[in-house]
Amino acid sequence: PSMKRGSKLFKQNFDFNSMGIGGLDDEFAQIFRRAFASRIFPQALVKKMGIQHVKGILLYGPPGTGKTLIARQIGKALNSKTQPKIVNGPEILNKYVGQSEENIRKLFADAEAEYKSKGDDSDLHIIIFDELDAICKQRGNKNDSTGVGDTVVNQLLSKMDGVDQLNNVLIIGMTNRKDMIDEALLRPGRLEVHIEISLPDEMGRRQILTIRTQELSANKVLDQDVNIEELASLTKNFSGAEIGGLVKSATSFAFSRHTVKQGDGIETQDLQHMKVTRGDFIQA
Ligand code: ATP
Repeated sequence: PSMKRGSKLFKQNFDFNSMGIGGLDDEFAQIFRRAFASRIFPQALVKKMGIQHVKGILLYGPPGTGKTLIARQIGKALNSKTQPKIVNGPEILNKYVGQSEENIRKLFADAEAEYKSKGDDSDLHIIIFDELDAICKQRGNKNDSTGVGDTVVNQLLSKMDGVDQLNNVLIIGMTNRKDMIDEALLRPGRLEVHIEISLPDEMGRRQILTIRTQELSANKVLDQDVNIEELASLTKNFSGAEIGGLVKSATSFAFSRHTVKQGDGIETQDLQHMKVTRGDFIQA
């Protein structure tokens, strides 16, 4: 099958807006093309062509742009029945010496056991590292006086190299600081596909605003005059999380005006009150 057909298959399977993710269609398509094609195409062909599955991807970019949202959807997109394991970088660093490496070992244990018994029939296990930079500062970094990071990175590297024999593991690392990630982790066979998740453009903001106001709209508590297009143009440099915050704060602002009655609701002025809390939100 051609890549085009693959992309079509992918798009049919995943409707990002209905997943509540806005403005990241291109990024999703990129992830598919660069990381998942081999997992979706017929496995006989993949084997014949000697294609190796991508074992790890790095999602990087500013905070609140939807990295966690994407990572959580990837398992569903790949029909994985096993719940993804999400670990937080700082949480894995345990104050007891040796415990952090043990934590990493445990993360991989289920996938390893299943692969041993089922081989390629094993379900896909996804391990998500949030705030990866916390454990993966460049080894030997002088600012890291504990040295704990070093051993954790080494343990992670040895597990990832072991993943070479496991077809059922996909690792997703997330960070706001790609520059802080140990280079060794970013090499081929490890977190080899790097996808930038940047701030949404105007179209993306429009989609996110639509998603975030959908329920209000359905519940008829969004004033009909609220103009999503205009708000999208006013929220330049807002992240998805900040747009979510804007709608939430508009909701409580409307509430505090005591105007939420039947047939009345959140108005443009409520959404624009954000200019009070965020300097760069300019009123039309
Ligand atoms: P961090 O780097 O701070 O962990 P992140 O990129 O992982 O941030 P998320 O946790 O995915 O960000 O986003 C936080 C919240 O912001 C989401 O739960 C969602 O409500 C909203 N949000 C962020 N981006 C989007 C988006 N593209 N579409 C819809 N909602 C979004």
